[in-house]
Amino acid sequence: MSKFFLAIIGGGPAGYTAAEKASKAGKDVILFEQNAVGGTCLNVGCIPTKSLLYGAKQYYNAAHAQKYGVSAENVSFDFAAMQKRKTIVVRKLVAGIKQRLNNEHCTLVSGAAAVVSRTDEVVTISCNGENYEAENLMICTGSTNFVPPIPGIKENEHVWDSTDALAANELPQSIIIVGGGVIGMEFATLYHELGVPVTVIEAMPTILPNLDQEVVAVLLEKYKKAGINILTSTKVESIDGGKVTANGEVYEADKILVSVGRRANLQGLEALNDIELNRGAIVIDDFCKTNLPNVYACGDVTGKIMLAHVAARQAEVAIGRMLKQIPLQRIAYNAIPSVVYTNPEIASVGITEAQAAELNIEPEVRRLPMTFSGRFMAENEGETGLCKMIIDAKTKMVLGVHMIGNPCSEFVSAASFAVRMGYTTAEFEQVVFPHPTVSEILHEIL
Ligand code: NAD
Repeated sequence: MSKFFLAIIGGGPAGYTAAEKASKAGKDVILFEQNAVGGTCLNVGCIPTKSLLYGAKQYYNAAHAQKYGVSAENVSFDFAAMQKRKTIVVRKLVAGIKQRLNNEHCTLVSGAAAVVSRTDEVVTISCNGENYEAENLMICTGSTNFVPPIPGIKENEHVWDSTDALAANELPQSIIIVGGGVIGMEFATLYHELGVPVTVIEAMPTILPNLDQEVVAVLLEKYKKAGINILTSTKVESIDGGKVTANGEVYEADKILVSVGRRANLQGLEALNDIELNRGAIVIDDFCKTNLPNVYACGDVTGKIMLAHVAARQAEVAIGRMLKQIPLQRIAYNAIPSVVYTNPEIASVGITEAQAAELNIEPEVRRLPMTFSGRFMAENEGETGLCKMIIDAKTKMVLGVHMIGNPCSEFVSAASFAVRMGYTTAEFEQVVFPHPTVSEILHEIL
């Protein structure tokens, strides 16, 4: 049996990034994936939702084009066709990843892998009845939808998780979304734009509770005005068929989408009984090393920040450490951008005003409506948007940027750069933004 330098379990953004990087460096790598490479993000997450959301946005914009002096009559859509296009986009991207791994001579094994045993010298993994040995193991097994212990939620054909929703070829007649987090609000956007009546039930006093609440308030106002029924501080007590009882009231819909978070997937790792866990996720150091000398973990399974781009960066850092590359790199968790694909989009990076208070930082908070950008005015009729910057009042360093307004997802990386490099406002001011673009808001606010 030949021994690999690295065995990776899970071929999502963490796993395939690590496989490509280590293979490129000339190492023998074996990657195990039980479904399709690309993981949740590519197959049942980011990419399929964005494909469908784009279709919905095209329809919605056409149907509401009058505000730009355009009249379009009898605008319609074909949801099955949108789904078909989504499937093609995903298939092409999956094929692209396979090709890249192939080009780097990485061994790809299709099947559910499980760790059999581990010493500091060798990890043995079984898959499809065969054993494989490697010097190092990287766990990139991702996460699965969390099913809360709500009576009536299991074996109920009205209840969907996000994977069910993405697979359906027909739109629901109406939908209740349990959980007003990122997944919940993106699906609320999709269904609302395609004309499905939407109710969002969120247990916390606000939707998207981890985001800047002034930014969220702009979205809430728009969505409530548009007719999305958003119930906050409302706890689901039970589900019976299509009926949801929450705070003593009964709500009914064709489908109930449950999106109340995800949990690390530890299946197949039972033999690693001495690996350190914290609240069901694998504990890692700054280089994505676990407490076991030759075992690394990256992505959702670490429970750090469940975002594909964090997973990919963790993988780069972990491989750098494994190959003893100098200088060793760490991940700047303080400068991770995140986007919520509502309409308008929300994009942010760095600390919020609320977090500044928790960290005992005296913040200088600047706010500017997006309408200060000429391009925004030209293309976003009836919207105001908001850009908010959190600055350290003492050092004048840019610590956070929070925005709502299209297409802020496309330029939040400029703000990430400023936060990552520790720019002061005076330094950031020297960066020239092209005119006319909405990105100029980052200059205007300085
Ligand atoms: P989340 O943690 O973002 O939101 C879950 C929401 O459900 C929270 O607001 C929580 O208060 C609420 N909740 C929990 N229990 C509840 C209950 N019993 N009744 C009502 N509300 C309840 O989780 P998610 O939306 O499921 O997303 C999972 C992960 O996937 C997140 O880490 C998210 O960042 C990631 N994701 C990212 C993107 C993106 O980057 N655009 C898109 C989708 C998912």
